[in-house]
Amino acid sequence: MPVNQLNAFQMAQTQFDGIAAKINIDPQVREVLRYPAREFRFQIPVRMDNGKIQVFFGFRVQHSDARGPAKGGIRFASNETLDTVRALAMWMTWKCAVADIPLGGGKGGVVVDPSTLSVGEKERLCRGWIDAVWHDIGPRVDVPAPDVGTTPQMMAWMMDEYSKLAGHYSPSAITGKPLGVGGSLGRTEATGYGVVDTIREAMKHLGMKPEKTIAAIQGFGNVAQYAAIAYIKELRGKVICVSCYDRNDQVSYTYSRKDGIDPIFLQSITDQYGTIDQAKAKDAGYTAEEAEAWIAKEADVLIPSALEGQINSDNVNRIHPRVKIVAEGANGPVTPEADEELKKRSIFDIPDFLCNSGGVITSYFEGVQNDMNYYWDHPSVLRRLDQKITKAFHDVLETSLERNMYMREAAYTVAIGRVVDAMEWRGWI
Ligand code: NAD
Repeated sequence: MPVNQLNAFQMAQTQFDGIAAKINIDPQVREVLRYPAREFRFQIPVRMDNGKIQVFFGFRVQHSDARGPAKGGIRFASNETLDTVRALAMWMTWKCAVADIPLGGGKGGVVVDPSTLSVGEKERLCRGWIDAVWHDIGPRVDVPAPDVGTTPQMMAWMMDEYSKLAGHYSPSAITGKPLGVGGSLGRTEATGYGVVDTIREAMKHLGMKPEKTIAAIQGFGNVAQYAAIAYIKELRGKVICVSCYDRNDQVSYTYSRKDGIDPIFLQSITDQYGTIDQAKAKDAGYTAEEAEAWIAKEADVLIPSALEGQINSDNVNRIHPRVKIVAEGANGPVTPEADEELKKRSIFDIPDFLCNSGGVITSYFEGVQNDMNYYWDHPSVLRRLDQKITKAFHDVLETSLERNMYMREAAYTVAIGRVVDAMEWRGWI
Protein backbone atom coordinates (compact mmCIF):
# COMPACT_ATOMS: atom_id res chain seq x y z
CA MET A 1 0.00 0.00 0.00
CA PRO A 2 1.42 3.49 -0.80
CA VAL A 3 2.82 5.15 2.33
CA ASN A 4 0.35 8.03 2.19
CA GLN A 5 -2.60 5.60 2.42
CA LEU A 6 -1.41 3.99 5.63
CA ASN A 7 -3.14 4.81 8.88
CA ALA A 8 -1.11 6.12 11.85
CA PHE A 9 -0.47 2.66 13.28
CA GLN A 10 0.58 1.16 9.95
CA MET A 11 2.95 4.14 9.53
CA ALA A 12 4.47 3.49 12.97
CA GLN A 13 4.88 -0.21 12.10
CA THR A 14 6.47 0.61 8.72
CA GLN A 15 8.89 3.02 10.36
CA PHE A 16 9.76 0.38 12.97
CA ASP A 17 10.20 -2.36 10.30
CA GLY A 18 12.63 -0.16 8.37
CA ILE A 19 14.83 0.53 11.39
CA ALA A 20 14.55 -3.02 12.74
CA ALA A 21 15.78 -4.41 9.41
CA LYS A 22 18.66 -1.95 9.32
CA ILE A 23 19.87 -2.83 12.81
CA ASN A 24 19.27 -6.56 12.38
CA ILE A 25 16.61 -7.18 15.01
CA ASP A 26 15.59 -10.85 15.01
CA PRO A 27 12.36 -11.25 12.94
CA GLN A 28 10.59 -13.02 15.85
CA VAL A 29 11.40 -10.14 18.20
CA ARG A 30 10.22 -7.70 15.54
CA GLU A 31 6.90 -9.53 15.43
CA VAL A 32 6.46 -9.00 19.18
CA LEU A 33 7.28 -5.29 19.05
CA ARG A 34 5.15 -4.57 15.96
CA TYR A 35 1.99 -4.90 18.09
CA PRO A 36 0.82 -3.53 21.43
CA ALA A 37 1.16 -5.90 24.39
CA ARG A 38 -2.38 -5.08 25.57
CA GLU A 39 -5.22 -2.85 24.51
CA PHE A 40 -8.53 -1.89 26.08
CA ARG A 41 -11.56 -0.43 24.39
CA PHE A 42 -14.52 0.45 26.57
CA GLN A 43 -17.71 2.45 26.75
CA ILE A 44 -18.13 5.28 29.23
CA PRO A 45 -21.77 6.15 29.90
CA VAL A 46 -21.99 9.70 31.28
CA ARG A 47 -25.04 11.45 32.73
CA MET A 48 -25.10 14.78 30.90
CA ASP A 49 -26.35 18.05 32.39
CA ASN A 50 -29.70 17.57 30.59
CA GLY A 51 -30.27 14.37 32.61
CA LYS A 52 -29.76 12.01 29.66
CA ILE A 53 -27.07 9.31 29.41
CA GLN A 54 -24.54 9.73 26.60
CA VAL A 55 -22.13 6.91 25.73
CA PHE A 56 -18.51 7.82 24.93
CA PHE A 57 -15.83 5.41 23.71
CA GLY A 58 -12.46 5.22 25.42
CA PHE A 59 -9.16 3.42 24.77
CA ARG A 60 -5.99 2.51 26.58
CA VAL A 61 -3.14 0.82 24.75
CA GLN A 62 -0.01 -0.57 26.43
CA HIS A 63 2.56 -1.14 23.73
CA SER A 64 5.42 -2.39 25.92
CA ASP A 65 6.17 -2.71 29.62
CA ALA A 66 9.51 -4.47 29.14
CA ARG A 67 11.46 -1.63 30.78
CA GLY A 68 8.85 -0.65 33.39
CA PRO A 69 5.21 0.44 33.73
CA ALA A 70 3.66 1.77 30.51
CA LYS A 71 3.60 5.58 30.31
CA GLY A 72 1.74 8.00 28.08
CA GLY A 73 -0.96 10.63 27.81
CA ILE A 74 -4.72 10.51 27.37
CA ARG A 75 -6.12 12.47 24.44
CA PHE A 76 -9.68 13.78 24.32
CA ALA A 77 -10.26 14.39 20.60
CA SER A 78 -13.22 14.00 18.25
CA ASN A 79 -11.07 12.26 15.61
CA GLU A 80 -9.45 9.81 18.04
CA THR A 81 -9.11 6.23 16.77
CA LEU A 82 -7.70 3.04 18.21
CA ASP A 83 -5.03 3.06 15.48
CA THR A 84 -3.84 6.56 16.40
CA VAL A 85 -3.61 5.50 20.03
CA ARG A 86 -1.69 2.33 19.07
CA ALA A 87 0.82 4.36 17.03
CA LEU A 88 1.35 6.88 19.82
CA ALA A 89 1.74 4.09 22.40
CA MET A 90 4.49 2.45 20.33
CA TRP A 91 6.17 5.80 19.92
CA MET A 92 6.13 6.35 23.72
CA THR A 93 8.04 3.07 24.15
CA TRP A 94 10.90 4.46 22.03
CA LYS A 95 10.74 7.89 23.68
CA CYS A 96 11.02 6.56 27.26
CA ALA A 97 13.76 4.13 26.18
CA VAL A 98 15.87 6.77 24.43
CA ALA A 99 15.58 9.01 27.52
CA ASP A 100 16.59 5.95 29.59
CA ILE A 101 13.77 6.29 32.10
CA PRO A 102 12.47 2.98 33.53
CA LEU A 103 9.08 3.12 31.83
CA GLY A 104 7.42 1.55 28.81
CA GLY A 105 4.99 2.99 26.28
CA GLY A 106 1.25 3.55 26.51
CA LYS A 107 -1.42 5.95 25.31
CA GLY A 108 -5.11 6.51 25.86
CA GLY A 109 -7.99 8.43 24.46
CA VAL A 110 -11.65 9.28 24.34
CA VAL A 111 -13.60 10.14 21.20
CA VAL A 112 -14.94 13.56 22.26
CA ASP A 113 -14.49 17.25 21.58
CA PRO A 114 -13.87 18.45 25.17
CA SER A 115 -14.90 22.03 24.31
CA THR A 116 -18.51 20.76 23.93
CA LEU A 117 -18.66 19.57 27.57
CA SER A 118 -19.54 21.48 30.73
CA VAL A 119 -17.11 21.30 33.67
CA GLY A 120 -19.35 18.74 35.41
CA GLU A 121 -19.62 16.58 32.29
CA LYS A 122 -15.83 16.66 31.87
CA GLU A 123 -15.35 15.56 35.47
CA ARG A 124 -17.84 12.67 35.10
CA LEU A 125 -16.17 11.58 31.85
CA CYS A 126 -12.72 11.59 33.50
CA ARG A 127 -13.96 9.59 36.46
CA GLY A 128 -15.78 7.22 34.07
CA TRP A 129 -12.55 6.62 32.12
CA ILE A 130 -10.82 5.55 35.34
CA ASP A 131 -13.79 3.41 36.49
CA ALA A 132 -13.59 1.47 33.21
CA VAL A 133 -9.86 0.76 33.24
CA TRP A 134 -8.52 1.19 36.79
CA HIS A 135 -7.86 -2.56 37.27
CA ASP A 136 -5.42 -2.47 34.37
CA ILE A 137 -3.48 0.72 35.16
CA GLY A 138 -1.64 1.98 38.26
CA PRO A 139 1.78 3.11 39.52
CA ARG A 140 3.39 -0.29 38.83
CA VAL A 141 1.36 -1.08 35.68
CA ASP A 142 0.62 1.92 33.49
CA VAL A 143 0.71 5.62 34.34
CA PRO A 144 -1.45 8.02 32.27
CA ALA A 145 -0.80 11.77 31.86
CA PRO A 146 -2.37 14.76 30.06
CA ASP A 147 -2.14 15.20 26.28
CA VAL A 148 -4.19 16.94 23.59
CA GLY A 149 -7.56 18.02 25.07
CA THR A 150 -6.79 17.07 28.68
CA THR A 151 -5.55 19.28 31.52
CA PRO A 152 -3.94 19.11 35.00
CA GLN A 153 -7.43 19.56 36.53
CA MET A 154 -8.65 16.48 34.66
CA MET A 155 -5.60 14.52 35.91
CA ALA A 156 -6.50 15.57 39.48
CA TRP A 157 -10.04 14.14 39.07
CA MET A 158 -8.62 10.94 37.58
CA MET A 159 -6.07 10.55 40.38
CA ASP A 160 -8.84 11.14 42.94
CA GLU A 161 -11.09 8.50 41.36
CA TYR A 162 -8.23 5.99 41.18
CA SER A 163 -7.35 6.67 44.84
CA LYS A 164 -10.97 6.12 45.94
CA LEU A 165 -11.19 2.82 44.08
CA ALA A 166 -7.76 1.65 45.28
CA GLY A 167 -8.67 2.60 48.85
CA HIS A 168 -5.60 4.77 49.45
CA TYR A 169 -4.09 8.02 48.20
CA SER A 170 -2.23 7.08 45.00
CA PRO A 171 -0.73 10.22 43.45
CA SER A 172 1.79 8.27 41.33
CA ALA A 173 -1.06 6.59 39.41
CA ILE A 174 -1.31 9.69 37.17
CA THR A 175 1.20 12.44 36.30
CA GLY A 176 0.73 15.99 35.03
CA LYS A 177 -1.26 16.87 38.16
CA PRO A 178 -1.53 20.39 39.55
CA LEU A 179 0.99 21.42 42.21
CA GLY A 180 -0.54 20.71 45.60
CA VAL A 181 -1.93 17.30 44.60
CA GLY A 182 1.46 15.84 43.75
CA GLY A 183 2.43 17.76 40.61
CA SER A 184 6.11 18.54 40.04
CA LEU A 185 7.72 21.95 39.90
CA GLY A 186 9.33 22.55 36.51
CA ARG A 187 6.85 20.44 34.48
CA THR A 188 5.48 23.50 32.65
CA GLU A 189 8.82 24.55 31.22
CA ALA A 190 10.40 21.07 31.05
CA THR A 191 9.88 20.33 27.35
CA GLY A 192 11.14 23.72 26.12
CA TYR A 193 14.12 23.68 28.48
CA GLY A 194 14.97 20.13 27.43
CA VAL A 195 14.90 21.20 23.76
CA VAL A 196 17.51 23.87 24.53
CA ASP A 197 19.65 21.44 26.57
CA THR A 198 19.92 19.23 23.46
CA ILE A 199 20.71 22.25 21.24
CA ARG A 200 23.52 23.28 23.61
CA GLU A 201 25.06 19.79 23.32
CA ALA A 202 24.68 19.78 19.53
CA MET A 203 26.47 23.15 19.40
CA LYS A 204 29.36 21.79 21.48
CA HIS A 205 29.65 18.87 19.06
CA LEU A 206 29.57 21.17 16.02
CA GLY A 207 31.98 23.70 17.57
CA MET A 208 29.48 26.57 17.55
CA LYS A 209 29.49 29.47 20.02
CA PRO A 210 25.92 29.61 21.44
CA GLU A 211 26.10 33.32 22.33
CA LYS A 212 26.80 34.14 18.67
CA THR A 213 23.85 32.16 17.33
CA ILE A 214 20.36 33.05 16.16
CA ALA A 215 17.29 30.80 16.44
CA ALA A 216 14.01 30.94 14.48
CA ILE A 217 11.09 29.26 16.26
CA GLN A 218 7.75 28.06 14.89
CA GLY A 219 4.88 28.17 17.40
CA PHE A 220 4.44 30.05 20.66
CA GLY A 221 2.69 27.53 22.90
CA ASN A 222 4.04 25.59 25.86
CA VAL A 223 7.11 24.16 24.10
CA ALA A 224 8.07 27.24 22.05
CA GLN A 225 7.66 29.79 24.86
CA TYR A 226 10.07 28.02 27.19
CA ALA A 227 12.45 27.07 24.38
CA ALA A 228 12.67 30.80 23.53
CA ILE A 229 13.19 31.78 27.18
CA ALA A 230 15.89 29.13 27.72
CA TYR A 231 17.64 29.94 24.42
CA ILE A 232 18.15 33.51 25.58
CA LYS A 233 18.67 32.85 29.30
CA GLU A 234 20.79 29.68 29.18
CA LEU A 235 22.61 29.97 25.84
CA ARG A 236 22.71 33.78 25.65
CA GLY A 237 21.74 33.48 21.99
CA LYS A 238 19.20 35.54 20.05
CA VAL A 239 15.70 34.43 18.99
CA ILE A 240 14.75 36.24 15.81
CA CYS A 241 11.10 35.13 15.51
CA VAL A 242 8.28 32.97 16.81
CA SER A 243 4.99 32.18 15.11
CA CYS A 244 1.43 31.31 16.00
CA TYR A 245 -1.97 30.48 14.60
CA ASP A 246 -4.32 33.46 14.93
CA ARG A 247 -7.82 32.16 15.64
CA ASN A 248 -9.43 35.53 14.85
CA ASP A 249 -7.86 35.83 11.39
CA GLN A 250 -7.73 32.03 10.90
CA VAL A 251 -4.20 32.23 9.54
CA SER A 252 -0.76 31.90 11.07
CA TYR A 253 1.80 34.69 11.40
CA THR A 254 5.52 34.88 12.06
CA TYR A 255 6.35 37.62 14.57
CA SER A 256 9.86 39.00 14.30
CA ARG A 257 11.90 41.91 15.57
CA LYS A 258 15.27 42.96 14.22
CA ASP A 259 17.08 42.91 17.55
CA GLY A 260 15.45 39.68 18.57
CA ILE A 261 12.19 38.91 20.33
CA ASP A 262 11.49 39.26 24.06
CA PRO A 263 9.68 36.03 25.00
CA ILE A 264 8.65 37.23 28.47
CA PHE A 265 6.91 40.27 26.95
CA LEU A 266 5.31 38.15 24.21
CA GLN A 267 4.09 35.67 26.83
CA SER A 268 2.30 38.54 28.58
CA ILE A 269 0.26 39.23 25.39
CA THR A 270 -0.39 35.56 24.47
CA ASP A 271 -3.60 33.67 25.33
CA GLN A 272 -3.86 30.12 26.73
CA TYR A 273 -3.94 28.66 23.20
CA GLY A 274 -0.63 30.28 22.22
CA THR A 275 -2.09 33.10 20.10
CA ILE A 276 -0.19 36.40 20.29
CA ASP A 277 -2.24 39.63 20.41
CA GLN A 278 -1.37 41.13 17.03
CA ALA A 279 -2.19 44.78 17.83
CA LYS A 280 -0.12 44.77 21.02
CA ALA A 281 2.78 43.05 19.25
CA LYS A 282 2.79 45.66 16.49
CA ASP A 283 2.67 48.49 19.05
CA ALA A 284 5.79 47.00 20.62
CA GLY A 285 7.68 47.07 17.31
CA TYR A 286 7.11 43.51 16.08
CA THR A 287 6.42 42.74 12.42
CA ALA A 288 3.72 40.20 11.57
CA GLU A 289 4.91 38.29 8.48
CA GLU A 290 3.42 35.40 6.51
CA ALA A 291 3.03 32.04 8.26
CA GLU A 292 6.12 30.36 6.82
CA ALA A 293 8.51 33.33 7.06
CA TRP A 294 10.16 31.66 10.10
CA ILE A 295 11.63 28.89 7.94
CA ALA A 296 13.52 31.30 5.66
CA LYS A 297 15.15 33.40 8.39
CA GLU A 298 18.91 33.85 8.42
CA ALA A 299 19.40 31.73 11.51
CA ASP A 300 21.73 29.03 12.85
CA VAL A 301 18.99 26.95 14.45
CA LEU A 302 15.40 26.19 13.45
CA ILE A 303 13.10 25.03 16.26
CA PRO A 304 9.77 23.83 14.81
CA SER A 305 7.52 23.65 17.90
CA ALA A 306 3.96 23.84 16.60
CA LEU A 307 2.60 20.89 14.60
CA GLU A 308 3.61 17.84 12.56
CA GLY A 309 4.70 18.06 8.91
CA GLN A 310 5.76 21.74 9.03
CA ILE A 311 9.10 21.25 7.23
CA ASN A 312 8.09 19.44 4.04
CA SER A 313 8.97 19.01 0.36
CA ASP A 314 7.20 22.31 -0.52
CA ASN A 315 9.22 24.52 1.80
CA VAL A 316 12.45 22.68 2.70
CA ASN A 317 14.32 24.60 -0.01
CA ARG A 318 13.45 27.88 1.70
CA ILE A 319 15.75 27.01 4.62
CA HIS A 320 18.57 29.58 4.76
CA PRO A 321 22.13 28.33 4.00
CA ARG A 322 23.23 29.55 7.45
CA VAL A 323 21.08 26.92 9.25
CA LYS A 324 23.17 24.18 10.90
CA ILE A 325 20.72 22.62 13.38
CA VAL A 326 17.04 21.64 13.26
CA ALA A 327 15.76 20.89 16.79
CA GLU A 328 12.39 19.10 16.64
CA GLY A 329 10.42 20.58 19.54
CA ALA A 330 7.12 19.37 18.01
CA ASN A 331 6.21 15.76 17.28
CA GLY A 332 6.92 14.79 13.65
CA PRO A 333 7.60 18.32 12.32
CA VAL A 334 9.86 17.08 9.46
CA THR A 335 8.33 14.89 6.71
CA PRO A 336 10.38 11.93 5.36
CA GLU A 337 11.01 13.79 2.03
CA ALA A 338 12.25 16.92 3.84
CA ASP A 339 14.36 14.70 6.07
CA GLU A 340 16.26 13.46 3.00
CA GLU A 341 16.95 17.05 1.98
CA LEU A 342 18.25 17.94 5.46
CA LYS A 343 20.62 14.97 5.21
CA LYS A 344 21.86 16.12 1.79
CA ARG A 345 22.57 19.56 3.21
CA SER A 346 24.31 18.03 6.26
CA ILE A 347 21.99 19.87 8.62
CA PHE A 348 22.24 18.36 12.10
CA ASP A 349 18.75 17.16 13.07
CA ILE A 350 17.80 16.46 16.70
CA PRO A 351 14.88 14.01 16.32
CA ASP A 352 11.59 14.70 18.09
CA PHE A 353 11.49 11.79 20.51
CA LEU A 354 14.93 12.79 21.84
CA CYS A 355 14.59 16.58 21.53
CA ASN A 356 11.19 16.93 23.25
CA SER A 357 11.61 14.15 25.83
CA GLY A 358 11.99 16.73 28.65
CA GLY A 359 8.23 16.51 29.30
CA VAL A 360 8.14 12.77 29.90
CA ILE A 361 11.42 12.85 31.85
CA THR A 362 9.83 15.36 34.25
CA SER A 363 6.64 13.28 34.42
CA TYR A 364 8.84 10.39 35.52
CA PHE A 365 10.36 12.70 38.17
CA GLU A 366 6.82 13.55 39.31
CA GLY A 367 6.10 9.86 39.94
CA VAL A 368 9.43 9.43 41.74
CA GLN A 369 8.63 12.38 44.05
CA ASN A 370 5.10 11.00 44.66
CA ASP A 371 6.50 7.62 45.66
CA MET A 372 9.09 9.19 48.00
CA ASN A 373 6.46 11.64 49.28
CA TYR A 374 9.27 14.22 49.17
CA TYR A 375 9.33 17.09 46.68
CA TRP A 376 12.36 18.68 45.02
CA ASP A 377 12.73 22.42 44.57
CA HIS A 378 12.57 24.01 41.13
CA PRO A 379 16.34 24.22 40.41
CA SER A 380 16.76 20.55 41.43
CA VAL A 381 14.13 19.40 38.93
CA LEU A 382 15.67 21.40 36.07
CA ARG A 383 19.19 20.24 36.98
CA ARG A 384 18.13 16.58 36.99
CA LEU A 385 16.31 17.10 33.68
CA ASP A 386 19.45 18.60 32.16
CA GLN A 387 21.58 15.66 33.36
CA LYS A 388 19.15 13.08 32.00
CA ILE A 389 18.54 14.63 28.58
CA THR A 390 22.24 15.50 28.10
CA LYS A 391 23.16 11.87 28.75
CA ALA A 392 20.42 10.74 26.30
CA PHE A 393 21.74 13.12 23.64
CA HIS A 394 25.30 11.79 24.00
CA ASP A 395 24.20 8.15 23.92
CA VAL A 396 22.53 8.86 20.58
CA LEU A 397 25.39 10.98 19.24
CA GLU A 398 27.90 8.26 20.13
CA THR A 399 25.85 5.64 18.26
CA SER A 400 25.48 7.97 15.30
CA LEU A 401 29.27 8.49 15.11
CA GLU A 402 30.21 4.87 15.74
CA ARG A 403 27.75 3.45 13.22
CA ASN A 404 27.82 6.34 10.78
CA MET A 405 24.09 6.91 11.16
CA TYR A 406 21.92 9.97 10.95
CA MET A 407 20.71 11.10 14.42
CA ARG A 408 17.12 9.86 13.90
CA GLU A 409 18.27 6.35 13.01
CA ALA A 410 20.76 6.37 15.87
CA ALA A 411 18.01 7.38 18.32
CA TYR A 412 15.83 4.46 17.16
CA THR A 413 18.82 2.14 17.38
CA VAL A 414 19.50 3.13 20.99
CA ALA A 415 15.81 2.96 21.98
CA ILE A 416 14.92 -0.34 20.30
CA GLY A 417 18.20 -1.87 21.51
CA ARG A 418 17.33 -1.01 25.13
CA VAL A 419 13.83 -2.50 24.88
CA VAL A 420 15.14 -5.71 23.27
CA ASP A 421 17.84 -5.93 25.92
CA ALA A 422 15.23 -5.76 28.72
CA MET A 423 13.13 -8.42 26.97
CA GLU A 424 16.17 -10.70 26.77
CA TRP A 425 17.10 -10.22 30.43
CA ARG A 426 13.54 -10.96 31.46
CA GLY A 427 13.55 -14.15 29.40
CA TRP A 428 10.75 -13.06 27.07
CA ILE A 429 12.69 -13.74 23.89
P1 NAD B 1 0.40 24.37 22.28
O1 NAD B 1 -0.99 24.06 21.88
O2 NAD B 1 0.66 24.92 23.65
O3 NAD B 1 1.03 25.42 21.23
C1 NAD B 1 1.00 25.25 19.85
C2 NAD B 1 1.49 26.55 19.22
O4 NAD B 1 1.60 26.36 17.81
C3 NAD B 1 0.53 27.73 19.44
O5 NAD B 1 1.27 28.92 19.60
C4 NAD B 1 -0.23 27.77 18.11
O6 NAD B 1 -0.75 29.06 17.83
C5 NAD B 1 0.87 27.43 17.16
N1 NAD B 1 0.42 26.95 15.86
C6 NAD B 1 -0.58 26.07 15.60
N2 NAD B 1 -0.69 25.91 14.28
C7 NAD B 1 0.27 26.67 13.70
C8 NAD B 1 0.68 26.91 12.39
N3 NAD B 1 0.07 26.31 11.35
N4 NAD B 1 1.70 27.76 12.17
C9 NAD B 1 2.33 28.36 13.21
N5 NAD B 1 2.00 28.17 14.49
C10 NAD B 1 0.98 27.33 14.73
O7 NAD B 1 1.23 23.03 22.04
P2 NAD B 1 2.58 22.58 22.72
O8 NAD B 1 2.27 21.86 23.98
O9 NAD B 1 3.55 23.70 22.72
O10 NAD B 1 3.05 21.45 21.69
C11 NAD B 1 3.63 21.77 20.44
C12 NAD B 1 4.16 20.50 19.81
O11 NAD B 1 5.09 19.87 20.69
C13 NAD B 1 3.14 19.43 19.47
O12 NAD B 1 3.60 18.73 18.33
C14 NAD B 1 3.19 18.52 20.70
O13 NAD B 1 2.73 17.21 20.41
C15 NAD B 1 4.68 18.54 20.97
N6 NAD B 1 5.06 18.17 22.34
C16 NAD B 1 4.62 18.88 23.40
C17 NAD B 1 5.04 18.53 24.67
C18 NAD B 1 4.63 19.31 25.88
O14 NAD B 1 5.11 18.99 26.98
N7 NAD B 1 3.83 20.36 25.76
C19 NAD B 1 5.89 17.43 24.86
C20 NAD B 1 6.34 16.71 23.75
C21 NAD B 1 5.92 17.11 22.48
